[in-house]
Amino acid sequence: MGNYQICDFCGNLTEKNTIKMCPSCEQMYQKVRRIVEVHPDTIVLDLSNQTGVSVSRILAFVDNGFFTMKEGTVEVLK
Ligand SMILES: [Zn+2]
Repeated sequence: MGNYQICDFCGNLTEKNTIKMCPSCEQMYQKVRRIVEVHPDTIVLDLSNQTGVSVSRILAFVDNGFFTMKEGTVEVLK
């Protein structure tokens, strides 16, 4: 596959990157992250409503270590 890889989150073929995430998934991740950084107590369902990123996608970010899950909210890993 050379310089391409499959995105871990949506399955799209994407250019090789240091993280296994395509640009559109990274954009979603950054959107969620911005809210979490300002409002760490926002529950996942509200994060989903505010960003348009599906709950399952947010949980996939958690599964892959981009966030940690804590009582219905997520924390940004530093
Ligand atoms: Zn993707």
